[in-house]
Amino acid sequence: MAKRRDGFACVKCGGKHRLEVDHIAPVRDAPERSFDLENLQTLCGPCHGAKTRKEANLCEVGPERIKWRELLQSTRPN
Ligand SMILES: [Zn+2]
Repeated sequence: MAKRRDGFACVKCGGKHRLEVDHIAPVRDAPERSFDLENLQTLCGPCHGAKTRKEANLCEVGPERIKWRELLQSTRPN
């Protein structure tokens, strides 16, 4: 349903591979909207993964999480 509406392409980058249907408002925040077409968007695998990680970070911004993120960033070449 959502994929058809979005033209079988990722709404972020227009990619057409590894398409997944994403919940704009996470299901845990809005369970009543989990089957609402307005709350669904088509994303490719990489874009979906990036969004999910961002949400996870936003939800748990405890000191442990920040320390962990800094550690991850410091070990990355960029
Ligand atoms: Zn994409």
